[in-house]
Amino acid sequence: MELTFTDEQLALRAEVAAFLAEERAAGSFTPRVDAWITGFDRGFTKKMAARGWVGLTWPTRYGGGGRTYVDRLCMTELLLAAGAPLAAHWFADRQMGPSVLAHGTEAQKERYLPEILAGEATYCIGMSEPQAGSDLAAVRTRAVRSGSGWLVTGHKVWTSLAQHSDYIYLLARTDPAAERHDGLSELIVPLRSEGVTITPIHDMSGAHHFNEIFFDDVFVDGDALIGTEGNGWRQITGQLGYERAGLERIMSTWALFEAMRAEVGDDERRQEELGALEAAARVARLLVFRAAAVADSGRPPDHEAAMAKVFATDIEQKMVEVASQWAGRGARTAGAFGGHLAPAWLIAPSFSIRGGTNEVLRGIVARRALGL
Ligand SMILES: Cc1cc2nc3c(=O)[nH]c(=O)nc-3n(C[C@H](O)[C@H](O)[C@H](O)COP(=O)(O)OP(=O)(O)OC[C@H]3O[C@@H](n4cnc5c(N)ncnc54)[C@H](O)[C@@H]3O)c2cc1C
Repeated sequence: MELTFTDEQLALRAEVAAFLAEERAAGSFTPRVDAWITGFDRGFTKKMAARGWVGLTWPTRYGGGGRTYVDRLCMTELLLAAGAPLAAHWFADRQMGPSVLAHGTEAQKERYLPEILAGEATYCIGMSEPQAGSDLAAVRTRAVRSGSGWLVTGHKVWTSLAQHSDYIYLLARTDPAAERHDGLSELIVPLRSEGVTITPIHDMSGAHHFNEIFFDDVFVDGDALIGTEGNGWRQITGQLGYERAGLERIMSTWALFEAMRAEVGDDERRQEELGALEAAARVARLLVFRAAAVADSGRPPDHEAAMAKVFATDIEQKMVEVASQWAGRGARTAGAFGGHLAPAWLIAPSFSIRGGTNEVLRGIVARRALGL
């Protein structure tokens, strides 16, 4: 399969490449691994927003770019390859905005979308809980109707970027008596509300990127409910397709991969290993583009997203493993590959966990793609 870009897509890529070259030259960022999720820079996001690159796929009548998901990949591929800091808008652009567009009322679209499009509102994803990760339907955080709004009580965990975010997009149980998939709803909760406590979790590199969040009778207005009460499970299934189907699933360690390409040298074994990684990365890219084409056809990618993420994150982890073998045991901490190996080594285990574990995603592929 040959993937060719239209003139419009090539023009977009040229604009993005020029922007990145300018930003790099101005020293606004230095490439690093995992910058789409840990590179938090509201200034960079605002510059992207000013160019119309946040909400690129959203309808023009809501201020979006009206472009396709494939167009968005044409852009994000360059941003991810550059290791640019995208975290201040990534979740809202990829997932929350499309969800408000799909399930929100007109009033909610007017309330929530413009500030995302301006690069001014940051969202985090409030799904996982101590007892609810892969088994997400086990969510216990409660949202109970109270006067004109809702009272939220519970505990979320592994919430990336909560410490920087304005809102959490929350999956909560609104009907404990219903069958467990039917009693869930989605709410947008401002994180500066009274009763919200955010506690850092440090990962094994020592970095603070995710958090625990405690909700202690947090009041949110009635407009916070997105979509239909009790329909949260079905709504979230669509969002997970967007979460899993991006090029970030193969390009988190692109800075390391570029360094490997530069340092492969004449060693035939290394050349073979690099060649195998190159081939696999290209297949992963095609799987991601296929999932975007599914989104462009009008439905969120489902098993296509699961397949892309399993395959791609496997290759990302292999890149780190091969780089580590080339560098040798001591070199993981010694600035090897432009300093990209050490951070990549420490975050690589998370590639096949965040966004849904690869074991669980293989189950989705087996059931929904293969009908097993
Ligand atoms: C870096 C990072 C960032 C994250 N950010 C967020 C975030 O922003 N918001 C958020 O809500 N969550 C976030 N998460 C949480 C993530 O979604 C969960 O960790 C993930 O879904 C797995 O859930 P768990 O940790 O509870 O593991 P468990 O579900 O307890 O799984 C433990 C093990 O059992 C296996 N397993 C479980 N069920 C099955 C099954 N049915 N079949 C086969 N194997 C199974 C799993 O594959 C895994 O190996 C993040 C996680 C990481 C690592």
